[in-house]
Amino acid sequence: MSRTAQLKSTAAVLEPRTLNEALEMRARAPDAMPLAGGTDVMVSLEAGVIDPPRFLNLWRLDALRKIEDTPAGGVRIGALCTYTSLGRSDLVLRHASVLIEAARTVGATQIQNRGTLGGNIVNASPAGDTLPVLLALDAVFELSSAERGARLVAAADFFLGYRQTALLPDELLIAIHLPARNADDHTHYRKVGTRLAQAISKVVLGARLRVVDGQVVEARIAWGSVGPVPMRSPSVEAALLGVPIDVDAEAKVAQDIRPIDDIRSTADYRQRVAENVLRSFLRSVVQTRS
Ligand SMILES: Cc1cc2nc3c(=O)[nH]c(=O)nc-3n(C[C@H](O)[C@H](O)[C@H](O)COP(=O)(O)OP(=O)(O)OC[C@H]3O[C@@H](n4cnc5c(N)ncnc54)[C@H](O)[C@@H]3O)c2cc1C
Repeated sequence: MSRTAQLKSTAAVLEPRTLNEALEMRARAPDAMPLAGGTDVMVSLEAGVIDPPRFLNLWRLDALRKIEDTPAGGVRIGALCTYTSLGRSDLVLRHASVLIEAARTVGATQIQNRGTLGGNIVNASPAGDTLPVLLALDAVFELSSAERGARLVAAADFFLGYRQTALLPDELLIAIHLPARNADDHTHYRKVGTRLAQAISKVVLGARLRVVDGQVVEARIAWGSVGPVPMRSPSVEAALLGVPIDVDAEAKVAQDIRPIDDIRSTADYRQRVAENVLRSFLRSVVQTRS
């Protein structure tokens, strides 16, 4: 019997009907693993990487599927939103079309129908495709617990180490807040894998440059699959800031990333590709503005 079939027959699944119920169950049963779309959980379970005694099934919590404007002019995306629902949202298109670009490269249709943005975030794989984009957009994560209520954590402070996050054992990720889009922003997403579709990334770039009067006034360059966590690129960002776009800033990439050799690629290849995709983005911004 496969491990997932075994799970169906043996493991307990807690089934909250409301968010409050879910938070109370989470506090009372921290050993129950939250289950959203299950597309990461089921793979880990089948591989024997995890063996939780029970699950906390979030799938019925429609309160976590809302996408709405925020008073600050941005958008709040419920943690249970799937990649498909992101792609169908006019609000996400208006505020963060680059996130939709990323969502469209995740898996194929089945995974996009079931996999959630919240699951990608809490799973915290360095290869999670949306994570560099969320870093580049200055996303803020809304975490909540029954005891302390909601708190906000910036994406830049959330990924603490290899698959370690700032989420506490009694908390759930509730929503993702994205700030208002600025007309001077140039955003970019680039995933490099073995194929264009259905591939785990070798390098992911999520980027945002705010350019005013020819000078970069805000720079966010973020990477996936080139280190133990999704990460910002402080040396590149500093090199870009306060000057006209410097297409040679890619020379700084090596100072920020920590690629490794693994079954999908080599450190050398990852570094070279990271430099290339950054240069190509910077050139495209220069061309758009000339
Ligand atoms: C065939 C296949 C292809 C894939 N392709 C890609 C790809 O191209 N790019 C990519 O980035 N990923 C890919 N994935 C991975 C996966 O689909 C995504 O990471 C997806 O977003 C996970 O979401 P989920 O809802 O299924 O999470 P789940 O599997 O349900 O959960 C993942 C983790 O997050 C926790 N969790 C989930 N939601 C919450 C919450 N609200 N609060 C607290 N904890 C929570 C769970 O406890 C678990 O630890 C692929 C997976 C498969 C099987």
